[in-house]
Amino acid sequence: MRCHTCGKLSLSLICRVCRSLYLQPQPHIRKLKSGLEVISFYSYDELEPLLLTKHLPHGWAIYRILAIEAFKRVAKVTHPIFAIPVDDNASDGYSHTALLARGLQRYGYQPLYNSLRAKNSVSYAGKPLAFRLKNPRDFHYTGAKNIDAVLVDDIVTTGLTLQEAHRVLMRHGVNVLGAFVLADVDRK
Ligand SMILES: [Zn+2]
Repeated sequence: MRCHTCGKLSLSLICRVCRSLYLQPQPHIRKLKSGLEVISFYSYDELEPLLLTKHLPHGWAIYRILAIEAFKRVAKVTHPIFAIPVDDNASDGYSHTALLARGLQRYGYQPLYNSLRAKNSVSYAGKPLAFRLKNPRDFHYTGAKNIDAVLVDDIVTTGLTLQEAHRVLMRHGVNVLGAFVLADVDRK
């Protein structure tokens, strides 16, 4: 096959050279108003071409590579921490957030699939803050209570979705230690 990024023949969808050129993770912490700390591994701008493959037929393969490369800087946990993917709906035949949560497994995190679902799936893309505030995600949580967990999502924009998810999980006795996202729109 050919590398998605440089077009050269490659055994993987993103070749070794492109991975080391473009996918070296640079962890960065952004603290949201609610106090939730969000660790991103890339700025949105540098990752956008790959993130836009999300809805394409090979999007799952790209996301799997992103999970491998991004989390390389994540330390292995020594006590049970769950990884809760934000709204892991398999809308494109796979769930990109579930794929990311699975990528954390090798670092000792236990994915909790299908546990945090949004009842409201209206798209926030390109919408102003007022629209996002008026149309909350309305998350429902059906996972275990009284656990330590991290939230997992691909992109953080305003942080409203993660903060809403955080509130819902807290109501269910989940101790949210932070969130892992691939890319932060706020980062330059
Ligand atoms: Zn390449």
